[in-house]
Amino acid sequence: MAELNEINPEFHGFFAHLREGRVAFPHCNACGKLHWYPMKICPHCQSSDIDWKPMRGAGELWSWTVVRHPFSPAYNDKVPYVVAMVTFAEAPGIRLIANIEDVPLDSLKIGMSLELAQPNSNEAMPQVLFRPSKALKAA
Ligand SMILES: [Zn+2]
Repeated sequence: MAELNEINPEFHGFFAHLREGRVAFPHCNACGKLHWYPMKICPHCQSSDIDWKPMRGAGELWSWTVVRHPFSPAYNDKVPYVVAMVTFAEAPGIRLIANIEDVPLDSLKIGMSLELAQPNSNEAMPQVLFRPSKALKAA
């Protein structure tokens, strides 16, 4: 398990929000744009006046792959697992790499609604883990 001091400082805000069950992206107060991944200066205007904008809406599945071969013995009991790119309507152009759990592989669908799977975490660097939105599952 990673310790906070092992994490690139630019990512501290991202994981702080994630620990509280939110995805947030760096937001530039000078030009108003979001960017990903986190940087000390805005890649759009070079301002260093950056804060974090939490996403309020659900994520959406942009694309994915299924990993079936473990890259190390530690993953022997984790395969197959899904590695996905998740987008947010409020953050056009940003694609977040994440895992998806609790979903039959043959039900994955581009555009499906996703929510964070772990609403709270005590880990310094929680896994970026989504699952299908409950509203969608109930439908
Ligand atoms: Zn900017």
